[in-house]
Amino acid sequence: KPTLLWLRRDLRLRDQAALLAAVEEGPVIPVYILDDHGPKYRIMGAASRWWLHHSLAALDAALRARGSRLILRRGKAADVLAALADESGAGRVHAIAHYEPWWRNAERDVAKRLDLVCHDGNYLLPPATVKTGSGGPYKIFTPFSRAVVEHMPPPAPRPAPAHMSAPDHWPKSETLDECSLLPTKPDWATGMAEEWTPGEEGAHERLDDFVDKASDYDEARNLPSQEGSSRLSPHLHFGEISPAAVWHALRGRSAGVTTFRTEIIWRDYAQNIILTYPDYGKANGKAAFDTLPWRSTSEARADISAWKKGLTGYPIVDAGMRQLWTSGWMHNRVRMIAASFLIKHLLVDWRVGEAWFWDTLVDADYGNNSVNWQWVAGSGVDANMFGRIMAPLVQSPKFDAGDYIRQWVPELAHIQGDAVHDPDAHGCRPADYPAKIIGHREARERALAAYRHVKG
Ligand code: FAD
Repeated sequence: KPTLLWLRRDLRLRDQAALLAAVEEGPVIPVYILDDHGPKYRIMGAASRWWLHHSLAALDAALRARGSRLILRRGKAADVLAALADESGAGRVHAIAHYEPWWRNAERDVAKRLDLVCHDGNYLLPPATVKTGSGGPYKIFTPFSRAVVEHMPPPAPRPAPAHMSAPDHWPKSETLDECSLLPTKPDWATGMAEEWTPGEEGAHERLDDFVDKASDYDEARNLPSQEGSSRLSPHLHFGEISPAAVWHALRGRSAGVTTFRTEIIWRDYAQNIILTYPDYGKANGKAAFDTLPWRSTSEARADISAWKKGLTGYPIVDAGMRQLWTSGWMHNRVRMIAASFLIKHLLVDWRVGEAWFWDTLVDADYGNNSVNWQWVAGSGVDANMFGRIMAPLVQSPKFDAGDYIRQWVPELAHIQGDAVHDPDAHGCRPADYPAKIIGHREARERALAAYRHVKG
């Protein structure tokens, strides 16, 4: 009797607990189900779909090298898995546990109809493992992180199975093309293809590359013009590499390695938050923020569009937004600046930015994205940061010598020295680059006035 391996954001063969458990039981049918019928807003964004296409292709090739293959289907997970069990006579379903609310619902539905076994392994610790002294979930990162570290290191990563036995008959599979995951015209993904190699091999190449640089991470991660961070985020999101594999690959105890380990604990923290607050992507963590008078999207339409296109007149913000559009990724420091700019300078609801990132990031992740947007907004269950209004023109020269701006905003590429951070003020703004859409002081006052409506 074959076993079904239900794959979602765990598209790897190494350190894959569900796969190893399935292989032990005999023939395995690996299946990926594209569900475009879920809650509309949470249908996978366009950049993620591009990534998924290539990651599934890579996974299928790796499975075929082991005598197996990937079965692709579309529809509701519980219906598809039940149909596959009927067709193949499969008895059990193995899967890695996921914590997005729609996946938890799907797991409940599947478990009503089939023998579903969920395994851990996409996080350093299963999210609900650590509890505060009073037995509740953590809301604040630092104590959460300390509690996680107590349980570290994670178990050593396990290798991929050398061979997988096939069922007598392979069930029918749709083709990747039928899933229509790639952009049609225009093909906006060429910049992504240049930057990324989706799939498990690409993930391990990134990791190998980073391991040698990890001791400098402490400093280099803040400099957007350098490749100082790991760029593992899309690989980790799609589960092409396990966090345990990342943890164990790092060598030594430099400040860089310690800081990096703390950063990957943020992933676990975000899962812990969405497990406790499943609506975190749409509901303010602090209800007091419900009274904040955001500008309406119709009033702010032109500003939102300028932000998305990287035409705000603030070079560091524009560089980040264009990096995002072209490569599907943005440097963390610049994500903070660009998010703060939308929320505070433009007084636009954080949910507008969260939705744009969801659609355009190759690492778009429900937990990480909503936790970080709410963190910048101050609306989350942790510290209130609304009053900390980042000044883009102060941040910019602090973290960028100008090279990042020159790379991503070609209109400014010829400007030497510090003037590139604020060409307007230096009288060298080219005609094809916009003036600032709002002044810093004016924006700050408007944001703080709006914030006075937030009670408590
Ligand atoms: P590294 O610095 O090398 O960190 C290693 C890994 O740790 C990352 O790959 C990521 O998995 C994790 N990590 C690091 N920082 C964070 C963080 N602050 N929160 C959660 N996990 C973290 N990250 C996403 O993976 N998906 C998102 O949708 C996402 N949205 C964000 C939105 C905003 C407004 C902000 C400010 C940050 C967001 N981040 C998100 C967090 C962070 O910017 C990215 O994880 C990081 O830039 C990815 O680059 P890296 O892999 O080189 O990170």
